Amino acid sequence: MARYRGPVCRLCRREGMKLFLKGERCHSEKCAIEKRNFVPGQHGKDRKAKIVGYGLQLREKQKTKRVYGLLETQFRNNFEKAAHMKGITGDNLLSLLERRLDSVIYRMGLATSRAQSRQVVRHGHIQVNGRKVDIPSFVVRPGEEISVRESSKNNPTILAARDATAHAPSPSWMDVDRDNLKGKISSLPRRDELVQIPINEQLIVELYSK
Ligand code: SF4
Repeated sequence: MARYRGPVCRLCRREGMKLFLKGERCHSEKCAIEKRNFVPGQHGKDRKAKIVGYGLQLREKQKTKRVYGLLETQFRNNFEKAAHMKGITGDNLLSLLERRLDSVIYRMGLATSRAQSRQVVRHGHIQVNGRKVDIPSFVVRPGEEISVRESSKNNPTILAARDATAHAPSPSWMDVDRDNLKGKISSLPRRDELVQIPINEQLIVELYSK
């Protein structure tokens, strides 16, 4: 599956906030937002115009897409799926994005970023209900057990990530057993339990509903 391969910190600077795309570096003073919090490009420092209307909706969509590491088509497909589900489209969209296997592994603290989590999944280290799943977009359902495969339990990347994220609390909608490298979604996440970065999903719904 295609993915963005360009400079990552540039994406945060474009959105004017930390999107936490680079793991531990994001919490250090090396973070580009700490040093150069202005829009990238030759005239970035001069761009002060207030964003309204369509621009606001577009930026919200771009930001959300970037947080989850998706390209336009993948993000749009998630939106279409959310729109066909029962309930509020914006809530459904965030629930689908958060329950992607790469996102779940990241939230379990077995990777320091969603990009690393995606790699962990792609390399076949993860199983769901005892069966290997190497598809990052796999949507985990409540009750399904996600765990590191027996042969990968000593994987240094996973163990280092677990240690590095030891301070981070697990989401309230998940039961995480960090010692045994496994976890479970206990219930569908409510809106107030979702996402660590402020997202106004209603703006995305409005953008795609034009
Ligand atoms: Fe964004 Fe992390 Fe880069 Fe900071 S270090 S700009 S939070 S990706």
